Amino acid sequence: MTHPLSDRISSLPVSQTLAMAAKARELKGQGIDIISLSLGEPDFNTPDFIKDAAIEAINQDYNSYTPVDGYVELKEAICTKFKRDNDLVYQPNQIVVSTGAKQSIANVAQVLLNPGDEVLLPAPYWVSYSAIAILCEAKFVEIPSSIDDDFKITPAQLEAAITPKTKMVFFNSPNNPSGSIYSEKEYRALAAVLEKHPQIYILSDEIYEHINYGVKPFSFAAIENMFDRTITVNGLAKAFAMTGWRIGYLGAPQWIAKACTKMQGQITSGTNCIAQRAAITAVLAPVEKVQYMVDEFETRRDLVLELLGEIEGFKLNIPEGAFYVFPDISAFFGKTVNGIKIENANDFSLFLLEKANVATVTGDAFGAPNCIRMSYAASVVQLKEAIQRIKEAVS
Ligand code: GLU
Repeated sequence: MTHPLSDRISSLPVSQTLAMAAKARELKGQGIDIISLSLGEPDFNTPDFIKDAAIEAINQDYNSYTPVDGYVELKEAICTKFKRDNDLVYQPNQIVVSTGAKQSIANVAQVLLNPGDEVLLPAPYWVSYSAIAILCEAKFVEIPSSIDDDFKITPAQLEAAITPKTKMVFFNSPNNPSGSIYSEKEYRALAAVLEKHPQIYILSDEIYEHINYGVKPFSFAAIENMFDRTITVNGLAKAFAMTGWRIGYLGAPQWIAKACTKMQGQITSGTNCIAQRAAITAVLAPVEKVQYMVDEFETRRDLVLELLGEIEGFKLNIPEGAFYVFPDISAFFGKTVNGIKIENANDFSLFLLEKANVATVTGDAFGAPNCIRMSYAASVVQLKEAIQRIKEAVS
């Protein structure tokens, strides 16, 4: 029986990151020894100093509705953070706090895009960008890149993708899924193209900012004449191991921030009061306090690159940030491996799930059909075991 669902939801793809994580959970529930490298989620606990702030907030009876755009103290703290880390001067009325960076991004898309507008997505891109554009009835246009270019696009490619209908471009550095980081020089070269097209707004997703291995990411809005056209999105999930707390935020021109607040006011209202109070402590904390997690991710990245590098058919780049590797596995296409025919990255990802009991995410979901994404936000023991299983399955 077909249910009378809206065209909107019927045409929306399922989030592949969440779907694979759910599948891994389901198989684990059946007693199968699955190692899940699917979800981008730190395997650390939220640091005690942040948990203490939350407990204090509960004891101080923070339990009422919050302002739609966030507590003023949190917005001020976010302004301090933007100045300290990104050299960006935002005022509190340019900040909107949301239920995760995903909601911040969805808000921006909803308030800027009309049906038929075009959104440029340098590929690979995070799975939900395209879905969020679809929900706005906008058209997303992929700008491809490959592992040989370190998964970065060139100014010429950007220029070629722009049409009179282009309204937005999404940048994400450090990138999910590739881990690549655009340098200031590379970003300035892309900005030089955008300068000629003042109708285009830039969404800069900087959620992996602090998870970098010695290369400090540059904020797109720090380019003088881009500030008034850029929305800077960030959040606490990744750097502070606070995925479930759901705190994302943006800094934007005031008219965009105001529109996002209006949108949010009709959908979810202000986000959770306890999480917001704890977030004040988190954003104001010196970044050094969470460096131990970044150091550990770096050790794991090196381990994963070394071990995967020993498997023939896995082509790798060196991710400079985030906690994913994004190998090009197209060498397996057209082959029958371990009795299973591999035609594409989806087949390969399913093959790994079935034969190695390792959950990954297909690159198709990220606009990169030659690759799979593997998260190394897992223990060293699990990572070693997962890669050994993959090695055996493909040998
Ligand atoms: N952003 C993370 C990921 O890419 C979390 C899951 C999601 O929201 O997509 O795995």
